[in-house]
Amino acid sequence: MLRSGLIWLSKQDWAERAARAGGFERLLVRRFVAGDTRHDALALARGLSQNADGLQGANAKFSFLGEEVTDPTDAEQAVAEYCALAAAVGDTSGLDARMGVKPTLLGLGISYETAERGLLAIVETAAAHGVRVELDMEVSGTVDATLALYRTAAARSELTGVALQSYLRRTPEDAQALIDEGIARVRLTKGAYSESSRVAHRGAGPIRRAYSGLLEQLWRAGADVGVATHDPVLHAAARRLAETEPTIGYWEFQMLYGVRPELGAAMRARGERLRMSIPYGERWYPYLMRRIAERPSNALFALRSITGR
Ligand SMILES: Cc1cc2nc3c(=O)[nH]c(=O)nc-3n(C[C@H](O)[C@H](O)[C@H](O)COP(=O)(O)OP(=O)(O)OC[C@H]3O[C@@H](n4cnc5c(N)ncnc54)[C@H](O)[C@@H]3O)c2cc1C
Repeated sequence: MLRSGLIWLSKQDWAERAARAGGFERLLVRRFVAGDTRHDALALARGLSQNADGLQGANAKFSFLGEEVTDPTDAEQAVAEYCALAAAVGDTSGLDARMGVKPTLLGLGISYETAERGLLAIVETAAAHGVRVELDMEVSGTVDATLALYRTAAARSELTGVALQSYLRRTPEDAQALIDEGIARVRLTKGAYSESSRVAHRGAGPIRRAYSGLLEQLWRAGADVGVATHDPVLHAAARRLAETEPTIGYWEFQMLYGVRPELGAAMRARGERLRMSIPYGERWYPYLMRRIAERPSNALFALRSITGR
């Protein structure tokens, strides 16, 4: 209830205006967001990979913040930003970094063709710089289009991947199709949006079980898997698989910058591969609200900041 209320708030312009006017920026944004520019994101990633907070050796995935654009100019600007980011990442020696892209930032809400054109431009530039492009997965109504975009991108370059959400009931079938097509390069998440029980599992236990099942399915198929969760039970499941069923694919842990950093430090101390997702840009509001929705103890703090009480 609280979670879906916060996700609803993440789409309200008035709440965004209030958050921007309130203390959000100082108090919470910098915990989860690198800064406004790609230079901020690159600097943060370099710091992480070198010496910060026990995360030495962690790799990066950058996301330029923004979603649900309706103006073609915004979509074009996002494409230009990702192309510039790819060049900067490719030219930054020693940084193993990917880019995460939201289809609705590329204009999926304007038309499928707009998003496809933008994505292929990014994939082409990124491939030239040796950078992998991963499609984020958004609300359930965009899954078919996102998978279609991924198939088109994957046909152009192997430096591509897609996020899957284990809370969606359809995901085992989607995962199997990608496995059968030989393009299962998957970031496995629980899912961050508010979905009806018709399409999504509800509750911690069922979502965790669905995640575990998908992890095994992808693992045994030798897929390329990003274990993208902060859930220690699922971390343990991945470690068990690594021990008992040595993988023929590739796997790594992936976490969001600012969330459970002590778990990331423990992974690095054990010598495990870890990639930190580092968002940047001025359009931080919906991203931040989803992070708050995931952690109820942050919610009151956030609402006070919006209402000024
Ligand atoms: C690298 C990465 C990429 C992602 N990409 C996508 C995507 O493309 N599409 C999508 O729908 N979702 C994406 N997500 C978000 C994901 O779907 C979940 O909403 C999010 O990871 C929280 O779920 P969890 O798996 O960490 O498990 P949870 O059970 O929610 O959390 C596990 C533990 O982490 C703590 N925790 C979780 N979130 C927070 C937080 N915000 N602040 C403080 N503590 C927290 C919890 O308190 C708990 O102790 C991504 C997540 C990661 C890590």
